[in-house]
Amino acid sequence: MLRALCQARLAAEAGEVPVGAVLAAPDGRLLAEAHNAPLRGHDPTAHAEVLALRQAGAALGNYRLGGCVLVVTLEPCAMCAAALVHARLAGVVYGAADRLAGAVSSCAELLDAPFFNHRVWHMGGIRSADCAALLRDFFAPRRLPGGEASPACWKGEGSHA
Ligand SMILES: [Zn+2]
Repeated sequence: MLRALCQARLAAEAGEVPVGAVLAAPDGRLLAEAHNAPLRGHDPTAHAEVLALRQAGAALGNYRLGGCVLVVTLEPCAMCAAALVHARLAGVVYGAADRLAGAVSSCAELLDAPFFNHRVWHMGGIRSADCAALLRDFFAPRRLPGGEASPACWKGEGSHA
C-alpha cells in the first residue's frame, strides 16, 4: 500500500485525482505501478487500476492475470471492478472506501455479483486514513467558500469529517 500511496502522490503532483495502484504477481513480484491519469491522456478509462492491469498484461503477455493481486488506494469504481473480473485477478486490496462511487462494498457489491463467472476476493480499509487524507487535501482547495463542496468535489470517505 505504501507504493500505491507514492503513486497517488505522483497523481496529485500532476493535477490528477490522487489514486494509485500497484499489481503483484503470484510470487510477489511487482508487475505494475500506476496512478490516475485521465486528464493527461484524455482518457476517461485511465484510472489507476486499469492502467495497472494494462501494464501487468503487457509484462506477462497475457490479459488474464490469474493469481495476481492489485493494491489500490481507493475502492474501485464500477468500471474498474468489472475490469478486475475480466482480468481474472485473484484479489484486490484497497484503502479508502468511496461512499459515492465505490463498487466493491459502498454503493454496489460488484465483485460478489452472481452474474460474473469469476470471483475476486477483496479487502478494504488498509491505511484508509492516509489514502483518504490525500484525496481530502487534493480537493480541499476546490471547495466553495464556507466549506460547501463544489459539484466537482470528491465527497467520498473522510471528506465530510
Ligand atoms: Zn475506476
